[in-house]
Amino acid sequence: VFILAIESSCDDTAAAVLHNDKVLSNVVANQLIHNQYGGVVPELASRAHQQNIVPVIDAALRKANIQKEQLSAIAFTQGPGLMGSLLVGSSFAKSLALALQIPLIAVNHMHAHILAHFIDEEGYDKPEFPFLALTISGGHTQIVRVDGFFDMTIIGETTDDAVGEAFDKSAKILGLPYPGGPLVDKYAQLGNPKAFAFTKPKVPGLDFSFSGLKTAILYFIQKKQLENPNFIEENTNDICASIQHTIIEILMDKLKLAVKETGIKQIAIGGGVSANSGIRATLKEAEKKYGWKTFIPKFEYTTDNAAMIGIVGYQKFLSEHFETSSVVSKARIQF
Ligand code: ATP
Ligand code: FE
Repeated sequence: VFILAIESSCDDTAAAVLHNDKVLSNVVANQLIHNQYGGVVPELASRAHQQNIVPVIDAALRKANIQKEQLSAIAFTQGPGLMGSLLVGSSFAKSLALALQIPLIAVNHMHAHILAHFIDEEGYDKPEFPFLALTISGGHTQIVRVDGFFDMTIIGETTDDAVGEAFDKSAKILGLPYPGGPLVDKYAQLGNPKAFAFTKPKVPGLDFSFSGLKTAILYFIQKKQLENPNFIEENTNDICASIQHTIIEILMDKLKLAVKETGIKQIAIGGGVSANSGIRATLKEAEKKYGWKTFIPKFEYTTDNAAMIGIVGYQKFLSEHFETSSVVSKARIQF
């Protein structure tokens, strides 16, 4: 089975070709245009997708050394995401499936962040059902109980900001460019995680809240700057390390509770923030500390990519979950 997968939910145009559960090519065109605006501008994102989609798909087919006529199906991201961005991918997928007379498969982007673990990749184990998935990305923070490829239940989620937003907004307060998450990670590796303490939010059960942390950081910085105008410049590494440490503690507290409540000790992380080196290291330690088995995706399958759409496409192909060309994109989508 050869699947062409297209991902265009936010600001990256991505295409991948899979042979069964193996990735033959995985191409991503990042839209750098948004950086100067400090966030994704939806109108510019859909325009850039229109410019990028044909060359990105061509590159994915070329790198995989596959002709269009060999494809078994086209998979695309149905949602969640920005409507104008999603429409570019879905329209292209529909036209190509129609032209090639092959099945069309719609994929939920959040399922894909989780099921990316089922890509066959040397040196990476696949989780067994049931497992817990912690999806941490730019728009979501969820703990999901995964009982099967299409049998997933959200057991905890954020009540306000996503973890990625917490990273990006904290970075913005420090004057770091968008997206700040990777930069906070970089500086945190050079700093002392215990240098400054930020109070953790009190949220019942398995849900999260991150908006209070951002405010706490803002007030802390403003206060310190009154005493020392160069406070940020002189303490960037320690501030970043302390922010990252607090975020990791918030995530770990809830994961521990989820393990206690479900009895499931297999934990898989996914989404852009799972690229974070501190989170990766903490989860690895948890294997020894708590006897968990943890699954950390290959770096290129953490932030938005089409290979993860392709692996869901492959599973849906096997179970013949196909769509007609009247399938619609959804900015918000039922999990
Ligand atoms: P969603 O998947 O919820 O629709 P998205 O697709 O925009 O959102 P992703 O691409 O999965 O999000 O993740 C992007 C987020 O990951 C950004 O907030 C970015 O700052 C964050 N991020 C990426 N790398 C790191 C890192 N090393 N440390 C912390 N955050 C990171
Ligand atoms: Fe994503």
